Formats: sequence, C-alpha cells, structure tokens
Amino acid sequence: MENIVSLCKRRGFIFQSSGIYGGINGCWDFGPMGVELKRNLKEDWWYNFVQQRQDIVGLDSSIIMHPDVWVASGHVEEFHDMLVDCKECRKRYRADHLETDVCPECGGELTEPRAFNMMLKTRLGANDETAVETYLRPETCQSIFVNFKEVYSSSRMQVPFGIAQIGKAFRNEINPRNFIFRSREFEQMEIEYFCRAENEDEVFEQWKKDIWQWYLDIGITESKLRWFSHPKESLAHYSSRTEDVEYEFPFGWGELQGLANRGTFDLKQHTEHSGKDLSFFSQQENERYIPSVIEPSAGADRTTLAILCDAYCEEEVDGDKRTVLKLQPNLAPIKAAVLPLVKKDGLAEMAQDFEKQLRKKFNTFYDQAGAIGRRYRRMDEVGTPFCICLDYDSKEDNTVTVRERDSMEQTRMPMAEVGDYIAQRCSNERD
Ligand code: ATP
Repeated sequence: MENIVSLCKRRGFIFQSSGIYGGINGCWDFGPMGVELKRNLKEDWWYNFVQQRQDIVGLDSSIIMHPDVWVASGHVEEFHDMLVDCKECRKRYRADHLETDVCPECGGELTEPRAFNMMLKTRLGANDETAVETYLRPETCQSIFVNFKEVYSSSRMQVPFGIAQIGKAFRNEINPRNFIFRSREFEQMEIEYFCRAENEDEVFEQWKKDIWQWYLDIGITESKLRWFSHPKESLAHYSSRTEDVEYEFPFGWGELQGLANRGTFDLKQHTEHSGKDLSFFSQQENERYIPSVIEPSAGADRTTLAILCDAYCEEEVDGDKRTVLKLQPNLAPIKAAVLPLVKKDGLAEMAQDFEKQLRKKFNTFYDQAGAIGRRYRRMDEVGTPFCICLDYDSKEDNTVTVRERDSMEQTRMPMAEVGDYIAQRCSNERD
C-alpha cells in the first residue's frame, strides 16, 4: 500500500487535501493523472449503465436539499454509527470496527458505545435568525426518489426502469482511513431501479450479474472480488436484503459497491412526508402502484483505489526494476505518448505535429527529454498503454513504432493508421 500511496503522490494521482496546512482528515484531491483516471472510470460507468441501456436515464441533482428530505429518508433518526472513546488516550473508534474491548492503541478502558449521526450539517442563508439548517447529502439517491415523478413523466419511462446519478456525498466518518477508501467527502455512482414487487428477486439477481461483469470489464482480477451477504441485524434501516461486492485491498477485504433491496420504503416515506403522490400509473396494466427499488450503489473513489491496487505491478526487465500500472486502456489517464527518438534533424517538429493531430481524438503526452528507455518507464508508471516513437525511418516512409505497455512489443505502423488503431483499443465499447 505504501508503494501505491507514494506513486499516487509522486506522479500526480492523489494528494492530501490542504497539504500545505498539514492536511485535513478524510479529504483528498485528485491531481492531473488522478482526475483523468477517475473521469474515465465514471465515463465508462455512465456509458455502459446509462447510455447503452434503453431502460436507464440519468440525473444530476443538487447536493443540498430541503432538510425534510432527511427526516423522511430516516437519516436524521437512523444514520448513526456507534462510537466509543478511549478514556486514556482519547482516541475515538467505530464500535463495530473494534476487535477487542480495550483501546487497540494504548490498551486503555473504553467508554460505552453512543450513537453519532454521520451527516454533515450546513446552514443556508446570511441571516443568523432565518438561516435554514440542513445537511450535505450522505448518499446521492434521495434526490432520485424525490424527482421520481418528474423523471418518469418527462422521459415517458415505464416500470421496470432505472435512474442513475454520479455525484458527491459526505459522511462525517468517525475514523477515515486506508487512503481514499474511507473518506468524508467522496463520489457515488448510484442507480435506483424501479420494478414491480413480485419481480424484486429476479431484478436483484440480474443486477448481481451485471455488476460483477462490470468489474471484470474494467479489468479487476476476478479472484480478488467476492460477494458479502449482510445478515439481517446489520442491514441499513431501509433495506430488506443487501449484498456487497468486496475487493481484496492490500489492507484487507473492503466494500466497493452495495446492492440493496430498498422495497417501497423511500417512495412511501416521501409520499407521506411531502403529501405528494409518488406512485406510478401503468397505462398498459391500468394500475397505480408504488414500485419497489433495487439499488446498486458504488463508490467512484473506492473503485479508483481498487483499480490502482489491481493495476500496480513491479517487474524485472533486463536486470532493472520496472514499475507499471497495467490499467485497462479506456481508463488510462494518457492514451498515447509521442516520443521522437532524438530532438534533432526535424524529428521533434514532426513528432509535435503528429501529437497535435492525435490529441484531437484522445489524451496524449509529448516527451522529448532523456533517453528513450527512461521515457518509456515514465509512461509505464502512469499506465500509458501506447508509446509512439518517431525515428529516422519515419521521415522516409511515414511509419512509426507503437510500443505496447504490458508486452513492451513494438509494431511498425503507418502514421495514418495510428490514431484509429489507438482510439479503437481505448474505447468504452464492449462486445
Ligand atoms: P461502509 O460499511 O464501508 O461504511 P456503507 O455500507 O456505509 O460503507 P453504502 O451506504 O452502501 O456504504 O454506500 C455505497 C457506496 O458508497 C459504498 O459501497 C462505497 O463504495 C461508497 N462509500 C460509502 N462510504 C464511503 C466513504 N466514507 N468513503 C468512500 N466511499 C464510501
């Protein structure tokens, strides 16, 4: 894990938030490489789960919502973690994360567990007396329920259908840890899939397959994935069944995505609290009802971390250590690096012109500094799948070598074909 954290900082994937002020616990910044990687991941998710499906539409709603939303959703009453304090060293822990009944740091006595609400409060309005107290959303899905009617009537969706959203969520985690795995500000990728109550189980099983396949499609090693089924006593207040996809991180197994059967809980609660009818009318069946909800809820940051852990690789090549991120090409921050073999004899100018053309199709990088081997290694470290080298032959016959990151094999190719070849290899499309 230390190697991954250090690579992330050194090569501009992930930095501590407010680092020059000593950092702030549970908040992280994505640098030039990290922002590309996370955007590509979200883009892949959106492309495959929203744009490629006729039965799912998207939403992008506000982070701050009416405070009554959180009363109706049960979060004001129920969104608690049990915390305990060490009476000696004052360290604070989540009771369900402790394996002993004394402080793991100093062996001191612990307080009785007490409930701690994890929502982050905020105030809207400039006047102290009239300002409204509300919360930064702890999950993105409530606005999907609140907008349920607007969405299905404006887009003429028929049950079964889903509404998807990617966005920030905030939780005042007692103990943020394991790099970006548990943070206080993070991004979720959620789908609320509405179906008839009698189809809940069938829809749940289909989502289990679709979710699993997506992790394989983004290149996660299958043997590092498993399902964890929540026993009844650990279910969230809204769920009758939850299964999590877990990944084996260097620090142990951790949840990447939860799949929950939320039943009719949320739509009923919002109908009751807002006084607005959130039922669905099916013209085909001439019937009005509140649909059930199956929810796949994934974390964009945790998935990014899983991708980095899974891709990180140290190899020995000709007696030297090579660090390489074996990222799926569509997720890689830079798709292709353009490298003139030498700077002189017009090769640099030719390579720069070529890079400018390729840049219109995908993210590229130009590098003329240092020995070619060293330049390849720099690109391996950030997971660039293709390096294009221009040499003296390129000037004669307009061909280049394309080096593949993982095999390190080099293929000679006409310059005119390189753009389409790489664009096709880096596409989000699945068979
Ligand atoms: P945990 O048990 O790890 O606290 P959770 O079961 O509370 O997670 P959910 O409410 O199911 O998490 O949220 C759905 C997804 O959102 C999780 O699978 C995870 O990927 C992401 N997520 C939740 N909390 C955090 C967090 N503090 N930091 C980063 N991602 C998070």
